[in-house]
Amino acid sequence: MSRQGNIKISSENMMPIIKKWLYSEKDIFLREIVANASDAITKHKKLVSLGEAAEESAYRITVTTDEAAGTLTVEDNGIGMTEEEVEKYITQIAFSGAADFLEQYEKAGGEGIIGHFGLGFYSAYMVSDDIEIYTRSYREGAPAVHWESDGESTYTIDTCEKEGRGTRVVMHLAEEEKEFLKEGVIRGLLQKYCSFMPYEIYLNPKGGEEDKPVNTPVPLYLKQPKDCTEEEYKTFYRETFSDYNEPLFWIHLNMEYPFRLKGILYFPKVKKQVELERGKVKLYCNQVYIADNIKEVIPEFLMLLNGVIDCPDIPLNVSRSFLQNDRQVQKIAKHITKKVADRLTELYKNDRERYENAWEDISTFVKFGAVKDEDFYAKVKDIIIFKNISGEYKTLESAFGPEVSADDAKEGKEPEAVYYVSDVNKQAQYIQMFKEAGLDALVCDAYIDPHFLSYIEYKNPTRVRFLRIDADIAGALKEDSDEDRALIDLFTDLLKEEHVAVKTEKLKNSAVPAVVNVSEFMRRMSEMNSFYRMGESPADMTLVLNLNAPAVQAVKEAEGEAQKLAAEYIWLLALMNYRALTPEELAKFTNASTRYLEESLKKL
Ligand code: ADP
Repeated sequence: MSRQGNIKISSENMMPIIKKWLYSEKDIFLREIVANASDAITKHKKLVSLGEAAEESAYRITVTTDEAAGTLTVEDNGIGMTEEEVEKYITQIAFSGAADFLEQYEKAGGEGIIGHFGLGFYSAYMVSDDIEIYTRSYREGAPAVHWESDGESTYTIDTCEKEGRGTRVVMHLAEEEKEFLKEGVIRGLLQKYCSFMPYEIYLNPKGGEEDKPVNTPVPLYLKQPKDCTEEEYKTFYRETFSDYNEPLFWIHLNMEYPFRLKGILYFPKVKKQVELERGKVKLYCNQVYIADNIKEVIPEFLMLLNGVIDCPDIPLNVSRSFLQNDRQVQKIAKHITKKVADRLTELYKNDRERYENAWEDISTFVKFGAVKDEDFYAKVKDIIIFKNISGEYKTLESAFGPEVSADDAKEGKEPEAVYYVSDVNKQAQYIQMFKEAGLDALVCDAYIDPHFLSYIEYKNPTRVRFLRIDADIAGALKEDSDEDRALIDLFTDLLKEEHVAVKTEKLKNSAVPAVVNVSEFMRRMSEMNSFYRMGESPADMTLVLNLNAPAVQAVKEAEGEAQKLAAEYIWLLALMNYRALTPEELAKFTNASTRYLEESLKKL
C-alpha cells in the first residue's frame, strides 16, 4: 500500500537557500550521489567481511543518461535500504545533515564551506524537479522500496519491483538543467570528482567487453611507495594533470599516524622567470575530490607544485576560516612542508647532479617557500645554491664570511660583503675585473632574487651583506687609494648636471679608465620605488677614475676642447658599462668616436 507523508524538516525554508547557494556550483550534486553509492558498497563490503552478508564479487556503480526520458540515473549494488531505512535516512535524517551544514554556512557568512561537503542526497534537487529511489536491502527477504518526492514537502513511499540488491537514484532533471543529460558533460564531472573513487564507475555501459570504468579505483597514491615504479609515477602525473612535460621529481606522502595523509606532490618543469606560475594541488577526502588549492591546508608556496593529497581527517563541513585555525589542519600543513624539505635535502645529498640540473626549475619555489615559511627556510637554507661567475654552483652559506661578534657589531662593523651579479651581460665589464682579480660573485638574476637576498640579510644580520658587483670597488681590485684633486674637479665640473660624484683610485687593471658605482642602498630604494610604481628616484652614482689607466693620465695632460671631449668620452665609456645609453648620450658617444677615428686615421 502506498503511503504519503510530509518531509519532516522544515524544508520550505531550507530548499530555497540550498537551491540559491548551489546555483553557482551545482555540479557537486553528482559527487554527492555517486559518493553515497560508493559508501553503500563499502558498507556492504564491511558486512561481508564480518560474515553478515553473502560474498559479492563485482561491485560497481553505473551512471546512465537518458535524453528521451530526461533522467540521470545512478545505480549501485551496495547495501540497499529497507522501507524503514528510507524513512529514517532519506526522509528524516538527510535533512538534518543539511541543517547542520546550513548553520555552518550561515556562520561563515555564506561563503567558503570547504568543498561544500555534507549536503548529500538533497543536493540533487538543485538540478531535479523530481527524484525517485528504487532500493532493495541486502537483508534476506526485504521487499524493494520505491520512494519519490519533488523535494518541496511531500513524498510517497511504496514497495516495488527491483532486481537485485542496491539502490537506483533516478533524477528527473529540471528543464533548464538538461545539459546534465549529455554524456560528455557527465563524463567530465565524473572525471573531476570521482576519478579515484574506490569502485568501478561505468557511464552508459553497453554491457560488452569494451565497457571501461571512468575511474581508477586504486589510484597510485594509495599504494606503498616501494611498490610504485618511476614509470607509474610519470603516467599518473600525465593523466592527472594533463601535462606532457615530465615532472622533475616527486614526493610520495604516506602517513597513518597521528593523522591519515596520502598523496603525491610533483615538482613540475617551469620556465625560469615565470611570475610564480600556479600549480595545482588537488585535495581529496577518502578518494572523493573536494577542491583545488585549498590554502588553509596546503601552504601557499606548495601550490606551485602539482599534486594530489588525500586527507580523510580534515573537517570538511566547516568554513575556511575555521580550517585556518584548526590545530590538526596546521599539523597537516607542517607535515607536508617538512616532507618537501626532506625530499629536497635527500636529493641534494644523494643525487647532487639531478638536484643541480633541476635547480633552475625549482629555485623559485624553494626561495619563495623560504621567504614565506620560516620552518621551511630553516630546513632548506643549507641547500639553497647559486651559480657563481665561473658557472659553478655554491651554497649560500659557503659564500658567507665569518660571524661578526656582538661587540664588533656595536662598534658598527658590518659583515663581509658577498658580491652578486643581477645581469651577466650588462655587468660584463665588472665581472671581467672580478675574474682577473680572482674574486668571486654569485649570479642572482631570478625574478625573486632581490627580495630573496634582502630576506637572507634579514635572517643573517651578522653573517652577510650583499653588494651588487657595481656597488663599489672591491678591496682586491685596488692597488691603493689616491686622490687627484685636479682630475676630480675636472670631471665634477663636466658632470655637474648629472649629479654624479667623482673619485680617483689606483686599480690593478690599467685597461679600464673608469667605472660607475651605484650605492647598494640607493639602488635598492630606487628599485623598490619603481616596483611600487612610485617613479624611479635618480640613482646615486659615483664615477671612479682609475689613475693607473693611461687614458686617464692623458686626459690630465690635455687642454681645452680636446680635454673636454676626452673626459666626456671616458665618462660615457664607464656609463655604458653600467647601463644602456640614452639617445642623447649615444649621439655624443658616436660623435666623439668618429672624431677619434678620423684623427687616428690621419696619423697612419
Ligand atoms: P550522508 O551521505 O552525508 O549521510 P545523505 O543525505 O547523502 O547524507 O544520505 C543520507 C543517508 O541515506 C546515508 O547516510 C545513507 O544511510 C542513506 N543513503 C543515501 N544513498 C544511499 C545509497 N545509494 N544506498 C544506501 N543508502 C543510501
